[in-house]
Amino acid sequence: MARKIKIEPNKRSCWWRNNDPGVKFHTTSEPFVISQLGQLVHRVKHRTTITREWLASHHTHDTAHFWCGNATGNPEFFYDVPAGRMVCARCEAALALESARRGVDHKRAADLVGHKLNLGAMVPIKVGEQKPTRKAKA
Ligand SMILES: [Zn+2]
Repeated sequence: MARKIKIEPNKRSCWWRNNDPGVKFHTTSEPFVISQLGQLVHRVKHRTTITREWLASHHTHDTAHFWCGNATGNPEFFYDVPAGRMVCARCEAALALESARRGVDHKRAADLVGHKLNLGAMVPIKVGEQKPTRKAKA
């Protein structure tokens, strides 16, 4: 059974976008997402369904914005965290900050699923160096 929590719709200040019949702003969603290429499980901040019948390659698809600032298209939504996955530490920190600032009670991931979870983060690794190809004029 898919259980959902309340989320904020991703409304913007532009009138035409908010009134576009091809865009559905969700007010509830499963709280977790794994993006297609990602490793971490992120917390859903906004969920939007976009329907573009006239675009052959872009029929109905879901988009998800995460609390850490990343986003993805056509993700899988989960209520529980799949075994062996780590929850995005930045998402959890952003939710805790939002709870403290606005007084909104955003539950921690571990409280939602009812068991212990590992937090994780992606770390960039330097794999090379690029030098300018043109010589700078003196
Ligand atoms: Zn995240």
